[in-house]
Amino acid sequence: MSKSQMLFEAAQKHIPGGVNSPVRAFKSVGGTPVFFKAAKGAYLTDEDDKQYIDYVGSWGPAILGHAHPEVIKTVQEKAENGLSFGAPTAIETTMADLICDLIPSIDMVRMVSSGTEATMTAIRLARGYTGRDKIVKFEGCYHGHSDSLLVKAGSGALTLGVPSSPGVPEGLASETITLTHNDSEEVRKVFAEIGDQIACIIVEPVAGNMNCIPPEQGFLETLREVCDQTGAVLIFDEVMCGFRVGLQGAQGYYNVQPDLTTYGKVIGGGMPVGAFGGKKEIMSHIAPLGPVYQAGTLSGNPIAMAAGLKTLELISADGFFEALTAKTTKLVQGLQQVADEAGVAFTTNQVGGMFGFFFTDQKDISRFAQVCQGDMERFKKFYHGMLDEGIYLAPSAFEAGFVSIMHTDEDIQATIDAAAKVMKTL
Ligand code: PLP
Repeated sequence: MSKSQMLFEAAQKHIPGGVNSPVRAFKSVGGTPVFFKAAKGAYLTDEDDKQYIDYVGSWGPAILGHAHPEVIKTVQEKAENGLSFGAPTAIETTMADLICDLIPSIDMVRMVSSGTEATMTAIRLARGYTGRDKIVKFEGCYHGHSDSLLVKAGSGALTLGVPSSPGVPEGLASETITLTHNDSEEVRKVFAEIGDQIACIIVEPVAGNMNCIPPEQGFLETLREVCDQTGAVLIFDEVMCGFRVGLQGAQGYYNVQPDLTTYGKVIGGGMPVGAFGGKKEIMSHIAPLGPVYQAGTLSGNPIAMAAGLKTLELISADGFFEALTAKTTKLVQGLQQVADEAGVAFTTNQVGGMFGFFFTDQKDISRFAQVCQGDMERFKKFYHGMLDEGIYLAPSAFEAGFVSIMHTDEDIQATIDAAAKVMKTL
């Protein structure tokens, strides 16, 4: 029995399902989750001392690779001064100033401790600001696990949303309208009918929770347009794609400005950090400046700020995103080539340092329905083949992959070589 198997068994005694976040349980690929004890650069080491090339990167934050020496040094130095004060610290202002400098759509920003907190509060703020209750989101996008967002579509676009988890009140779910992602026409139709009741649209401008799905041409522009027409707030949830597809995230990449943006992952450099920010006119409604309540004991925690700030500084270096994008392109092109050589129906998506792959004979995957049509059995077989070869991919066909700046050409070639071997077995 491997150590991971032993640890997983032990974990299940006092931790529900043996994990502290469900996707870690490997339910969608089967088998035992790998327990890791260390990570450095592009590599993970499991409890059995096996090394893996990592394309999960802690689900996005590890853009500089794991345990980057400068980030670790900053965190260690900061920790010497105390872990948390629950009072203002100078580094919070440095962080806020940097974010507002980097992102033109953001005049003010509030730090929180997770992506879920960021999106939950952005929605409360949009509701408080507009005085409206309804929100629009898209099937396949994930925005964390707050009640208003754990909702799926009813049978038609305008029918009431239904809870996607027990425990979410039906009354609250009925205020969430879930539309088809990348369908501009449907958005226009709904806004023409009830636009004046809608507080906000929340969208992953590059979706990373239904695999990697870029916006179709004109989709983000349509969202901007209907919000401008009706006074609804446009929220880009850049928890995943922010500081990942480019320094200015998806809004810079596609040149569409939201009213509010949410962040997480990279912005914390591996520590628990989220943030939401945007126009001063809207952000001024947040307590203590305004009446919309939000708070957090550990918000703006100095250690987390230090890790995040150092990460943002390092990724702001000239040429960083060009290099990251080139590495990611090399990976997806290599995977495509070995799949073609093995005669396996396969296609990929990529935006900057974010990628996805699909076992399907369709090309141009831009809809959630297409992702669902992928060959899930093939994905599972590929997943475990790659795991055996020492390549750690996201354990679900509905998750994006991430490359770090520490992935070398040799790492990427080793990954492509492993894929060539595994593709032949599919
Ligand atoms: N929004 C997006 C786009 C995400 O990808 C995630 C998490 O993966 C969240 C929100 C929630 O963030 P957290 O897991 O930090 O609560």
